[in-house]
Amino acid sequence: MITPSALFEKFKGVSLLNPLCAYTMERCEKIAPQINRILELKKEKNALILAHSYVHPDIIYGVADHVGDSYGLAKIGKMAPADLIVFPSVRFMAETVKILSPQKTVIDPNPNGGCSLADSIAATQVKELRKKYPKHTFVCYINTTASVKAECDVCVTSSNVIQIIEKIPSDKIYFLPDKLMGENAKNLLQKRGVHKEILTYPGTCYVHEEFDAGSIDLIRSQNKDALVLAHPECKPEVVAKADVVGSTTQMQNFVMQRQKENRPFVLLTECGVASRLAMEAPLARVIGGCTMCKYMRSNSLASIIEALESPRSSQIIEIESSTLERASICLERMFHYAE
Ligand code: SF4
Repeated sequence: MITPSALFEKFKGVSLLNPLCAYTMERCEKIAPQINRILELKKEKNALILAHSYVHPDIIYGVADHVGDSYGLAKIGKMAPADLIVFPSVRFMAETVKILSPQKTVIDPNPNGGCSLADSIAATQVKELRKKYPKHTFVCYINTTASVKAECDVCVTSSNVIQIIEKIPSDKIYFLPDKLMGENAKNLLQKRGVHKEILTYPGTCYVHEEFDAGSIDLIRSQNKDALVLAHPECKPEVVAKADVVGSTTQMQNFVMQRQKENRPFVLLTECGVASRLAMEAPLARVIGGCTMCKYMRSNSLASIIEALESPRSSQIIEIESSTLERASICLERMFHYAE
């Protein structure tokens, strides 16, 4: 049982990059009963709570067993001995856990939370595209639903997209649904001397699409020694100006390793990552944006309690068996190329 004062101590260092949003004693008094209820239910139900880096710090620092990105957490979920996995994130991420751990009960506490990328394309559209481009290898980003993965050949993540497209024997690729990531992959591969035809679908992440190249120029003019880290879901002109391009986990590892350098690290990704680093890499000077994913942020302690006490059917991930099997093959091919 955690007391409000112990919680206040624990959350003292949590930086929300805005002093007005810091954890006060009043806030800790309010959330302590919810956190205690979740910890109790977790034990009672042998549940594991996975939290994406973009969800609220109440969840990350209050109740999560593991925090990370979708791919890393899906692998942890697969290995964990828990009977029940609760994954506050967005739907496609909880589905990925279910595809990798079909025998476990996987719960998405926030079933109405979408994702501008995953929601941009449905399986029927992939089937139509495959008819139109029969010679292309269909590569999907992990930010897709299980039914879209089931119609594609190989899945990729933001950390292995370049490596996998390079390894796929075909030189005709249809990449979906992230247009910007597809263009970035094409540009980065061309720099390596790999010239493949990469067609893209017009989906975007509404959070990462917001960053513009002019802001990088402005930050650099004010911070001469800044290192700029961009997510590959950003626009190509933004990626072109960045020092490092990588997934949220790659960005975090980079800053953790180099935090002793007395220079600013500018993070062009969802603001939760900068908040985490401000807490977990205290030596680093982190500059983050104020771009927040509304879908991820709609997870709450209350929705986790509801999901653990008595989940609604819409919160329990069910995937039709043939879809699950075909989506699993798409993911297995990713493991084959990546590992
Ligand atoms: S940050 Fe973008 S890609 Fe990630 S869940 Fe939100 S909308 Fe989807």
